Amino acid sequence: MKDQMKAAILPNNKKVLELTEIPKPTPKVNQLLLKVRACAICRTDLHVIDGDLSNPKENLILGHEIVGTVVETGSGVSNFKVGDLVGVPWLASTCLSCSFCLRGQENLCPDALFTGYTVDGGFSEYTVADSRFCFPIPENYDAQHAAPLLCAGLIGWRSLKFTGEEKHLGIYGFGAAAHIITPIAIHQGKRVFAFTSPGDERKQKFALSLGVEWSGSSLEKPPTPLDAAIIFAPAGNLVPKALSDTRPGGTVVCGGIHMSDIPSFPYSLLWGERSVKSVANLCRKDGEEFFNVVKNLTIRTHVSLFDLEDINDAIEKLRQGAIEGAAVIAFNH
Ligand SMILES: [Zn+2]
Ligand SMILES: [Zn+2]
Repeated sequence: MKDQMKAAILPNNKKVLELTEIPKPTPKVNQLLLKVRACAICRTDLHVIDGDLSNPKENLILGHEIVGTVVETGSGVSNFKVGDLVGVPWLASTCLSCSFCLRGQENLCPDALFTGYTVDGGFSEYTVADSRFCFPIPENYDAQHAAPLLCAGLIGWRSLKFTGEEKHLGIYGFGAAAHIITPIAIHQGKRVFAFTSPGDERKQKFALSLGVEWSGSSLEKPPTPLDAAIIFAPAGNLVPKALSDTRPGGTVVCGGIHMSDIPSFPYSLLWGERSVKSVANLCRKDGEEFFNVVKNLTIRTHVSLFDLEDINDAIEKLRQGAIEGAAVIAFNH
């Protein structure tokens, strides 16, 4: 095996990725060396590039929706073997010993590391990952279609969990996460109402094709009050809008890692025991539950494939909202 690899690097203080050759990593204790098969692009990658998330690793390799084949294991690895198809999520590792980690909230660990942000991610031919935080990819998915499950799917799942047993669910922002979570919500017997940017009829049609009961502009009122809402779009002004669409006692879940400022709004929108909740990262338990669900209910993820060489083009298309479903960097090696 050659010891150099192609990688897209985010140089310090730059906003465009640079394709370069760097040494291939070697797996340390508990780590897997993965030959990357596919890595989806997430909106969070844009937030890292734009500096909305501070202090990324220097000369970072972005990408936290990785599917790869194990080619080598470090010492201590017991849950995967060479040849396994493995998924690497946003949560790269945690301390496993702080009060958050010990009470099942490892997603809030102050010493957590994040794939493609504080440690290198998957926009490269090879990557290393802590085996204890990776997930086996179910056999009913190929690498390219599984990649968006690793963040859009997992964060979407955690967001959906936070809406509980509620029946009428509004989803604001119909991108990668929404298109994975919608069929699951419908399968659970929910009625889904999809909100897109005003005028985005293509996304509204896409939502209808996935079985939502209604789709329309985020400025419109849904045909019936919502029991719960999930906001995937990073727009703070959707919080008061979603609250106004939600019945008393309902919950509004903010699914993004970054959101523009939430404008002030009258207390009457929150009154009536409505609540607003954010979703931070994921726990391994979310992954176990989610992959168990999608193993039995095959989700047809919609992917637009790009070569690593075209990653900046793919990022720009995602930024413009021109991707239906998820943008995925695919490797043919
Ligand atoms: Zn993500
Ligand atoms: Zn911890």
